[in-house]
Amino acid sequence: MKQIVFATNNKNKLREIREIMSDLYEVLSLDDIGCHEEIVEDAETIEGNAKIKADFVTNKYHVDCFADDTGLEVEALNGAPGVYSARYAGEHCSYQDNVNKMLNAMRGKTNRKAAFRTVIALNLGGKSYTFEGRCDGQIIESQRGTDGFGYDPIFMPDGFNQTFAEMSHEEKNAISHRGRATKKLIAFLKDLG
Ligand code: IMP
Repeated sequence: MKQIVFATNNKNKLREIREIMSDLYEVLSLDDIGCHEEIVEDAETIEGNAKIKADFVTNKYHVDCFADDTGLEVEALNGAPGVYSARYAGEHCSYQDNVNKMLNAMRGKTNRKAAFRTVIALNLGGKSYTFEGRCDGQIIESQRGTDGFGYDPIFMPDGFNQTFAEMSHEEKNAISHRGRATKKLIAFLKDLG
């Protein structure tokens, strides 16, 4: 079986990808290849950070690799927090800190449009590719739901009356930014055979 590295140690992301790709590739994590260095994600764009992670692994370990990066872009905040979504409320903040900061920043704003954007950078056979997934929605005024992570309790995707945190994993994956980017990656890899 062909092998490919997914530049993450996030157990949920790994399980998800492994389930989908089990007939195509053996997917290895950073742990699996003994990569324990901190990869500094200091690009100013989501694309840039995804590429930093994929390139670090390919250059150092000479393997095919993909990496993802996600940001929440809020129109009334000029696209913030974007690439800084994980550390919006500070370097070691919790998901709840980020949610609180976002609710405060959006207090009184009528334009509540936001979008999650995921970019997957892939290095395969010496070539580089990117795949993007986007999910448009609204930042609601107070949090709802307990499932999910990150900004899920305050993000309601367009066309739904539930936040991501009120949906099942299957429902969220079917329409989410990461789900859509992942589908593009899989379709590309399946096409190659
Ligand atoms: P990452 O690039 O996947 O690590 O995502 C960066 C940050 O964006 C995370 O720390 C979360 O705060 C946020 N985020 C990413 N994906 C989601 C999601 O599906 N729902 C809610 N928040 C997310």
